[in-house]
Amino acid sequence: MREDTKIVTAGRDPESNHGVVNPPVYHASTILYPGMAGIKSMWEARARDEKGVYYGRIGHPTSAALEGLVVAVEGGYRCLLYPSGAAAITASILSVLKAGDHFLVTDSAYYPTRNFCNGTLTRFGVDVTYYDPLIGAGISDLMRPNTRAVFVESPGSQTFEVQDIPAIAEAAHKNDAKVLMDNTWASPLFYKPFEHGVDISIQAGTKYIVGHSDAMIGTATATKDAWPSLRDTTVELGQTAGPDDVYLAQRGMRTLSVRMKHQQDSALKLAEWFQTRSEVERVLYPPLKSDPGHALWKRDFTGAAALFGVLIKPCSEAAVAAFVDDLKLFGLGASWGGYESLILPQKPVRTAVLWDSECQLLRFHIGLEDIEDLKDDLKDAFDRLNAASS
Ligand SMILES: *Cc1c(COP(=O)(O)O)cnc(C)c1O
Repeated sequence: MREDTKIVTAGRDPESNHGVVNPPVYHASTILYPGMAGIKSMWEARARDEKGVYYGRIGHPTSAALEGLVVAVEGGYRCLLYPSGAAAITASILSVLKAGDHFLVTDSAYYPTRNFCNGTLTRFGVDVTYYDPLIGAGISDLMRPNTRAVFVESPGSQTFEVQDIPAIAEAAHKNDAKVLMDNTWASPLFYKPFEHGVDISIQAGTKYIVGHSDAMIGTATATKDAWPSLRDTTVELGQTAGPDDVYLAQRGMRTLSVRMKHQQDSALKLAEWFQTRSEVERVLYPPLKSDPGHALWKRDFTGAAALFGVLIKPCSEAAVAAFVDDLKLFGLGASWGGYESLILPQKPVRTAVLWDSECQLLRFHIGLEDIEDLKDDLKDAFDRLNAASS
């Protein structure tokens, strides 16, 4: 089956649910077993690592529907759900490391990932090194005998460097290290991590999968090899996602393809328009032919998120505020991947390769509004910026 068909059909089972199109929402903690024989077959099924309905925290038909859908589209062996993308990241990291190990993390990682590495992970005795996101095969020089995992995020959601993941994965696997990827930008649709050597792929489902800015959820999908430890760590940590949020995520994902295709078209047009503006130093967006990551993006991705950065030439704080404050259609807020447009000023935290641009970095997420209305809003914003600068 082709991609768009999988997105619509995977993880659904109307025949078992009175013909109802969407999976029902199971609110459950206790699962009742039919007598001692039922308990025994439950024990045996769990020992065989069979998917099943054992206890609310371990999973139910609603979570199985979303897990199945994500695996059908993103690939991998099996998937688990978490209450947030950040929770999926931390559980995945903990599943591949122990005290005394060394962990390589891209300098472009989402800030809370870095925060966890510098906090809890370091406190529990893992040595963390941040590396240049553009390092590629050169990462083998940073490998130590105890390097057990490499974290990639491509493109980074603030600075948009595209990473050469196949090259990084080859070096990592030679060193017996696992590759963990934050694949939120491309979503399960536009990047297939397991075809490029990734061992665990993480989604902040909060973004494009949910797609409507009204629920938080995370997913971690593993290869067969990485699965047992991911499963055990997740159970040990007590992670689970609430059934209503799981339902919203599987419902949102049915329209992932139409939303993303529409939003990437608008984003590319607006990114090209930003490039024509004299106030703009550079637009950070791999689908642009001029972007340094364009060739790698074209090689490995099948599409793009509608999330990009714009470097505004040095100007006063008041000028930036004049641009940002009176936008009518761009909400000022964190997160992205919903149906609506957003703007967020960024100050990337970097330690391996310093981010020393004097330009103001603005991150845009392009929603489903009419592109001409968005452009009008942005033109007015540039007029205000120029008036405040003169
Ligand atoms: C938002 C985000 C996360 C974390 O997701 P939450 O659901 O907010 O915890 C992780 N990675 C990236 C790239 C994100 O944008």
